This record gives sequence, C-alpha cells and structure tokens, in this order.
Amino acid sequence: MNKMAKLSQLRQALQDRLKRASSAGQGTPKPPAAFLEEVAAQLAKTNDQELACDECAETLDRFVELAVAGEDVQKLYPMIHHHLEMCGECHEEYQALLRIVRDG
Ligand SMILES: [Zn+2]
Repeated sequence: MNKMAKLSQLRQALQDRLKRASSAGQGTPKPPAAFLEEVAAQLAKTNDQELACDECAETLDRFVELAVAGEDVQKLYPMIHHHLEMCGECHEEYQALLRIVRDG
C-alpha cells in the first residue's frame, strides 16, 4: 500500500471513530483527545517509516552481520536503520541478534 492510501485510510478510520463516538455517547474506550494523539503518532510514523516490520526482519540478519563487521549500516541500509529507531519491537530483535552474533 502506498503512503497516500495509508494516510487516507487513517483519516477515514478517524472520521468513523469520531462519528461512532458522537452517536454512541458514552462507552467509547478512549477520550477523543487521546485518540487524536494516537492518530497523529500513526500519521507521523507513516510519513517516516516506510518499511514494514516483516520487510525489516527480512534484512535484519544481514544488517546485524554488517554492523558487527563495522560497516556503516546506517548508510548501507538507511531504511532499516530508520525503522529500528522507530520500532521498539524490531529494535529489541536487533539488539538480541547483535548479542547472538557478537557473543558467537
Ligand atoms: Zn518493526
């Protein structure tokens, strides 16, 4: 899915959510302000983070190998590097792989 499609999907989801919240009155799990913040965070992520976690995982082994070898992985794989900064789960996996490769 391209970035614009993702953005419009998120906007649509937000509108649906707000519509439902106003018609349902009580019982929405989150106050709108918190949800708006969440959407803003999602949008910010969508703008920056073009890589999906599974795409990241596909290249992570190689990324770790090169990083341990002292290569400039930030230049070689800027998308992966960026994803690791954005994504806690992948970052944890990266750290775990680093330990494994380093400790043999
Ligand atoms: Zn990820």
